[in-house]
Amino acid sequence: MHIYRPNEPVNGRIARNDLCTARKAAGFVRHVEIDVSGTNLVGQVRPGQAFGIIPPGVDDKGRPHKVRLYSVSSPTRGEDSGPPGSVIATTVKRTIDEDWETHKLFLGVASNFLCDAQPGDPVLLSGPNGKRFILPASPDQHDYFFFATGTGIAPVRGMVMDLLESGCPSKIVLIMGSPYATDLLYHDYFLRAASEHPNFQYATAISRERQSDGHDPMYVQDRLRTDRDRLVPLLDSDRTLIYICGLAGMELGIFQQLALVLRQSAMENYLQVDPETLGDVKSWSRSMLHKEVRPTRKVFMEVYA
Ligand code: NAP
Repeated sequence: MHIYRPNEPVNGRIARNDLCTARKAAGFVRHVEIDVSGTNLVGQVRPGQAFGIIPPGVDDKGRPHKVRLYSVSSPTRGEDSGPPGSVIATTVKRTIDEDWETHKLFLGVASNFLCDAQPGDPVLLSGPNGKRFILPASPDQHDYFFFATGTGIAPVRGMVMDLLESGCPSKIVLIMGSPYATDLLYHDYFLRAASEHPNFQYATAISRERQSDGHDPMYVQDRLRTDRDRLVPLLDSDRTLIYICGLAGMELGIFQQLALVLRQSAMENYLQVDPETLGDVKSWSRSMLHKEVRPTRKVFMEVYA
């Protein structure tokens, strides 16, 4: 971690910048690859970590922009567009909003800088950051259940690539959630990976339209109910680790669904819940997380508002 501090960043170059969503999607999400050849970042950046971007220019007070952290979506071996470990990637959604007071259009500084950037453009980097939300040291000893919403898929893409490309025989399930089917990220890659690797299962949860399999609109956790027979056996295993990445709030619904579909001894692999709280799962609230409802060390979470 912290090979380069934000006050002593290093120069990388944009290697590729591709649209990630279907063209009809309402938001703009881009897969941005950065060449870090010649720096000490080569081979040192793992999916689940983040790196810092220092946007060029100054803020409205005339000070240089502060560092922003972006989640690594590349596998540890780096992207195909360069020698091993030398091209890292992130998955960026353009921030486009309205200032509530002035009614003026507001563009996120770093996300728009990255999304506008062209191959060859320089970019100032720091990092890597983060050591908890990564794959375990001995990946073969575990099975994996990933829940991702929106750009929360970034670290999961790199982790799934690391697992599948190393020939890891572990069972892997990914449930990816997005508002519409057009917003699914890296969808073609995951479909192909699932067809090529019998140990990898991929399911989607679309929140604002009917699923392609006919189910009503749903959140990621609802797949534990609709696909219970297929998914619950993996969660029943002592080997399984759960990774949750995306929108803050998603963890509560996942924990409630785990408590509803798993037998108590399996649930206790992931959650410690006071007995009186367990009797009333449907009324759990976010304020109870880490108090009455405590995830265990088998649950890894990166959720942001
Ligand atoms: P998005 O495309 O809007 O997709 C989010 C999906 O989650 C939508 O389908 C949304 O449904 C659904 N959702 C909303 N509330 C939920 C809940 N309580 N339980 C389950 N699903 C729920 O997402 P986005 O704009 O890309 O945002 C992704 C979030 O991930 C951001 O907050 C970002 O900061 C975070 N993120 C984290 C990391 C990391 O490494 N930690 C990396 C990248 C992104 P509806 O909108 O239809 O209700």
